[in-house]
Amino acid sequence: MKDHSSKCVHAGTIGNIENTGVNSPIYTSTSFQFIDREETVYPRYLNTPNEKAVAEKIAALEDMESALVFSSGMAAISTTLFSILGSGDHMVLQKGLYGGTTNFILSELERFGISYTFAKSQEAKDIMDAVESNTRLIYLETPSNPLLSITDLEEVATAAKKAGLITVVDNTFASPINQQPVKQGIDIVVHSATKYLGGHSDLCAGAVACSQALIEPIHKTGLNFGGSLNALDLYLLERSIKTLDVRVSRINRNAQVIAEFLAYHPNVSRVNYPGLPEHPGFGIARKQMSGFGGMLSFELKEADSIAFQKRLRLIRSSMSLGGVETIVSSPAHTSHRHLGIEGRKREGIAEGLIRMSVGIESFADLIEDLDQALEK
Ligand SMILES: *Cc1c(COP(=O)(O)O)cnc(C)c1O
Repeated sequence: MKDHSSKCVHAGTIGNIENTGVNSPIYTSTSFQFIDREETVYPRYLNTPNEKAVAEKIAALEDMESALVFSSGMAAISTTLFSILGSGDHMVLQKGLYGGTTNFILSELERFGISYTFAKSQEAKDIMDAVESNTRLIYLETPSNPLLSITDLEEVATAAKKAGLITVVDNTFASPINQQPVKQGIDIVVHSATKYLGGHSDLCAGAVACSQALIEPIHKTGLNFGGSLNALDLYLLERSIKTLDVRVSRINRNAQVIAEFLAYHPNVSRVNYPGLPEHPGFGIARKQMSGFGGMLSFELKEADSIAFQKRLRLIRSSMSLGGVETIVSSPAHTSHRHLGIEGRKREGIAEGLIRMSVGIESFADLIEDLDQALEK
């Protein structure tokens, strides 16, 4: 299987051997026979049949040798980082990471003796300038939240490899349909499967994909940290990924049309979408992404972004992203609220910034809704 769309449907899926059904059965057991078995199977050991089915699908989609599925994106991220880093180690992070990841770094690493530097920007040069003699790992996220900045994965991966550093990319925003960081030489990919992989705003999960050699220490740490996912949600996730390619293709197209509509709207002062030629990351995005994704953000000319969100009828104002429904949020009131006006200004987050996760509805309906809410 070479194509994404076939892998989404078939990779990893067990099939029901007894009655020849086409879907993986849900194995709810937490107790498995151990006599005459090579492996002791247990949910927290991340090796149940449903875990393996989803992991295989995600590994195939990322073109990686191996994957593991966790109970949340943060479980995947924290387990991965703690499996590699130890006391005395240093890591470099790009600017503009997901808020939960930033909080994790700021509140947990120091007391384990792990130091870190946030690079000045998402530019490869600034990221490599932050490397120190005890740096072990570089952590990236592209496109980033909420300004959709693009990091040149190949440039960072090449420089990191020369310096003997492990590279990790949070591929949540792009999804493996639009971006496979392994192609640019990245070592490890992490996902919040709560977003596009799950895709229906009804499950919380995470994943990591990498080589067999790198997954082994992550697996070992993972069974101690205990962030495994239950069989029912594993099945739900497997079911969702079967339509990932179809959903993301539709979402890519919708987002491009909406970004172009907003770019010409007199009440919008700026649009951040890597699929627009005026976006500073457009050239790199075109090189390393096969689609520009469903996330965009835009600045309203009016300051009251809450009033705008209240005027929307079809598009819901709510948190999270990556579902079939189009939603918006205002970073100044959600993810970047704690920074205050000055802090937001420093980060380039305008008070009237709206972040949008484009869904699979008809773009004509979405544009009509945006148009009536923008016109006042
Ligand atoms: C949501 C998200 C996470 C965290 O995932 P959870 O499933 O909420 O733990 C990490 N990275 C990005 C980019 C996200 O959007």
